[in-house]
Amino acid sequence: MTKKRIVYIPFDQLHRNYGALKHADKEDDLIVLVESERMVDPKRFHPLRLFFLVSSARHFAAELQAEGYSVEYVQAQTTRAGLEGVRAKYRTQEIYAAEQSSYRLQETLAELGATFCENDFFLTPRALFKEWAQAQKSFLMENFYRLQRKRLNILMDGNSPVGGEWNFDKENRESLPKDHQALALLEHPYDEIDREVAARFGVSGTYWATTRAGALGQLNYFLANHFATFGRYEDAMSSGDWSVHHSLLSPYLNNGLLHPTEVIAAAVKRFEVGDIPIASAEAFVRQIIGWREYINGMYWHLGADYRSRNELSAQRKLLPLLEDPDRTSMNCLKSIVRDVQERSWVHHIPRLMVLSNIALLAGVNPQEYLAWMRNQFIDASDWVMVPNVIGMGVHGDGGVMMTKPYASGGAYISRMSNYCKSCIYDPKKRTGEDACPFTTLYWNFLAEHKDKFEKNHRMFQQLSGLKRLSDLDDVRVRAKEVLEGLERGLI
Ligand SMILES: Cc1cc2nc3c(=O)[nH]c(=O)nc-3n(C[C@H](O)[C@H](O)[C@H](O)COP(=O)(O)OP(=O)(O)OC[C@H]3O[C@@H](n4cnc5c(N)ncnc54)[C@H](O)[C@@H]3O)c2cc1C
Ligand code: SF4
Repeated sequence: MTKKRIVYIPFDQLHRNYGALKHADKEDDLIVLVESERMVDPKRFHPLRLFFLVSSARHFAAELQAEGYSVEYVQAQTTRAGLEGVRAKYRTQEIYAAEQSSYRLQETLAELGATFCENDFFLTPRALFKEWAQAQKSFLMENFYRLQRKRLNILMDGNSPVGGEWNFDKENRESLPKDHQALALLEHPYDEIDREVAARFGVSGTYWATTRAGALGQLNYFLANHFATFGRYEDAMSSGDWSVHHSLLSPYLNNGLLHPTEVIAAAVKRFEVGDIPIASAEAFVRQIIGWREYINGMYWHLGADYRSRNELSAQRKLLPLLEDPDRTSMNCLKSIVRDVQERSWVHHIPRLMVLSNIALLAGVNPQEYLAWMRNQFIDASDWVMVPNVIGMGVHGDGGVMMTKPYASGGAYISRMSNYCKSCIYDPKKRTGEDACPFTTLYWNFLAEHKDKFEKNHRMFQQLSGLKRLSDLDDVRVRAKEVLEGLERGLI
């Protein structure tokens, strides 16, 4: 059967009303999805991530077929090989696609001579972000976010922000109360396709939906049960509650099952009922129209080479504890790495203030750490992992994106979680065998990079603290032991 065009749908554009499908023709076009071996390498990727990506794509292909489209779901060594195979089979040269969400796929499609429509899976056209970025001295997310609020007219009261403030971040930093009980989570039971894919990758967890209906169910569940408390406890961590009040929507926003427009519209509508604190509504809106859009914009603005940056010359190999949580006695890391192993996800504070913090303080090579994060997380797309890890997580860009490194000692983790209570280390101590490795390494990190940070006025307070430290020599001796212990998986 000859078809006029191949309409290529990558695994991260699975939405009926956006991207290339918006312009597809049921009669003339062949819809093609390619599952490349590289993308589903079980030696590399977390099995839940593979289950989620493949099962979602297979469901989507089946739904399109049921709607009357001609669909080919192809398994091939590479995306290129898959598309070339379809070209030969259908004697069709023309490939039509939306702009891809990663440099690599965009290049592949361009080399195949594809015609592109705009990638409208985000709220901000790339050219518009570039215009903003080119006019900035420093890329402050907050400035971008305020413009987004006005441009998209979200939580606005005329020209003023609803609630009188642009940002309620000060109210988003509470730790959980002592009697906190985790709420029941929404389960996503398997259907026939899920069962097949789960058997293929050897998984059993029902944490993640693989259909649009399931993703919409998750959105509604969040709005009904967690939205009101989202803001207040946004930064809190707990060994007994892995998701706290987070939405768990990133996988669906990133593979296209949900579009940010519909998530924001549903959140604003829920807020307008009147029982959601503005500090929660604003915090959630900030994540989606602020952070998410900013990160995607920065990915394209900073260029394909940004991922290779290593301005702190960090050369240590990946720490064994990231591969095996039994290789550490640090309670926070043991618990969080186990969470990642079990569900392929932890929220932004464990990602930033625990996992990335240890990589930063121990001087783990940014590219090795980035590869580990990319492989482990269910929502890890290139556009979002690269700036979050290189720019925000490990300061690999030397401050291009964030003006100062997110480095901290054990005190922060102790304040925001219950991990320290049952840890063999003491977050207040920086020397001695029971000193918290985060606390020791924090001071060591500042001392190591003092010359670089002295030029940064935002580091003034931390460096003043360092100058007042009377036992820095002892701290550095202990830091050496800690780093050796981490390398050997014995701390
Ligand atoms: C080092 C590091 C690596 C990260 N890697 C990823 C990643 O690979 N994929 C990913 O989607 N997010 C990533 N994030 C951002 C954030 O941790 C996740 O989006 C969030 O934890 C997903 O859970 P949630 O849907 O419950 O989010 P919520 O806390 O409920 O937030 C709502 C939504 O806001 C968006 N969002 C919030 N913060 C960010 C951010 N910094 N960048 C982009 N989107 C954001 C997400 O779409 C998220 O679903 C990373 C953050 C850090 C610090
Ligand atoms: S004491 Fe340090 S290592 Fe132990 S849980 Fe607290 S922060 Fe983590």
